[in-house]
Amino acid sequence: MSALSAGEREHLTGVLSERKEPLRDGIRAGLERMRTEGYEDLLSGTSDAGDRSMANLLTDVTNAEVAHDAAELQDILAAETRLAAGTYGTCIDCGVPIPYARLVAYPTAKRCLHCQQIHETTRAAAGR
Ligand SMILES: [Zn+2]
Repeated sequence: MSALSAGEREHLTGVLSERKEPLRDGIRAGLERMRTEGYEDLLSGTSDAGDRSMANLLTDVTNAEVAHDAAELQDILAAETRLAAGTYGTCIDCGVPIPYARLVAYPTAKRCLHCQQIHETTRAAAGR
């Protein structure tokens, strides 16, 4: 059961699809940078503790960016799976239709605002 009209669903499908390409590019570029940084560290052969920690920091930053992009891409793929299954736009916790305005602002939303707030409060309380 979904409150989305065919046009709204079509729009969100397009938004999700368009978002995938820059994410793929970002992940590719990030992996490329990690490889380059790794080689530079190996080739320099002069890495004292300071250089090493700086190189590690660069790799960590790149990894965090790549991890963020990869997580977002996974969210989009999951949303597309829900679209195909007909469950997109329905809160996974309480089953109510997620308002179109929320989906426009956050196309990969799995929960209604109410359940999302409960989810985040619970997660924060668990210290994660
Ligand atoms: Zn809900």
